[in-house]
Amino acid sequence: MKLYAPSTINEIRQKYGFRLSKSLGQNFLTDKNIIDRIVESAEIGPDDLVIEIGPGIGVITAEAAAAAKKIIAVEIDRNLIPILKETLAEWDNVEIVNKDILKTDVNGLIHSCDGSISGVKIIGNLPYYITTPIIMKLLEDGVRADSITIMMQKEVADRIKADPGTKAYGALSVAVQYYCTVETVVNVPKEVFLPQPKVDSSVLKLNIRDKKPVELADRDVFFRCVKAGFGQRRKTLLNSLSSVENLTKEAAGKALEAAGIEPCRRAETLNLEEFAKLSNEVYLRLQQKGI
Ligand code: SAM
Repeated sequence: MKLYAPSTINEIRQKYGFRLSKSLGQNFLTDKNIIDRIVESAEIGPDDLVIEIGPGIGVITAEAAAAAKKIIAVEIDRNLIPILKETLAEWDNVEIVNKDILKTDVNGLIHSCDGSISGVKIIGNLPYYITTPIIMKLLEDGVRADSITIMMQKEVADRIKADPGTKAYGALSVAVQYYCTVETVVNVPKEVFLPQPKVDSSVLKLNIRDKKPVELADRDVFFRCVKAGFGQRRKTLLNSLSSVENLTKEAAGKALEAAGIEPCRRAETLNLEEFAKLSNEVYLRLQQKGI
């Protein structure tokens, strides 16, 4: 049976009286090549654990199960659980968890498999309404995975991999590039989904860095500076940085000067290294004030 075929998906809908939920971002993949590209680019080894976000009816899960030691697939929609039990019946290395990924302790899931696995790969065709929260949760929680290979709307993928000085460059680019190196796996047209979404998609592979690319005095202050800078991206850094809590304009000016950054520059022109330098100087000034 070709699980990914539109006719199979429609049969399953009829058999289980399953209704696709728009609000849960249910756009199922119907193209074997794209499924293969996701699984191949994740470079799943025979001793690896795979965590899949949003398995749907299991099209990616079934392919990954053939490559991995174990799959834990986290699906929020309880109506899909009996369907997954049937479509994945032949795979005894698949565990289905009926939970919201945003409320799941992913490191806890990984920890439960310690000792029996080598690498950890996260994969998925993400529900687009929460793409950014999912990525940021995994990264901010310090997920113990090697990589995250995920489908998302192309516009978000473009923002994630954007370079300084471009329109797409923003807080999301800085945050993801701080934690990961980013590879584009494939751009995906909307026609390969059922139902078709309104936008095109991309698969990105986020390789989680062992060593961060910059030294930060304080990660929280770094992200507060990034947020302040891009929160008012048309303003000069001298002005936008003043919205960092407890930082006066005078202190912002001194931090910029000490970091060797012209106060009239805008956040979108700063690379990761410059943001790090700047936030380290901001941190010093906040410390001096005893904050
Ligand atoms: N992997 C399947 C495929 O490619 O055909 C389905 C992908 S579909 C774009 C997204 C899936 O994520 C749906 O099955 C949806 O129910 C599930 N989902 C939505 N929100 C979720 C959440 N917060 N936690 C876990 N799964 C979620």
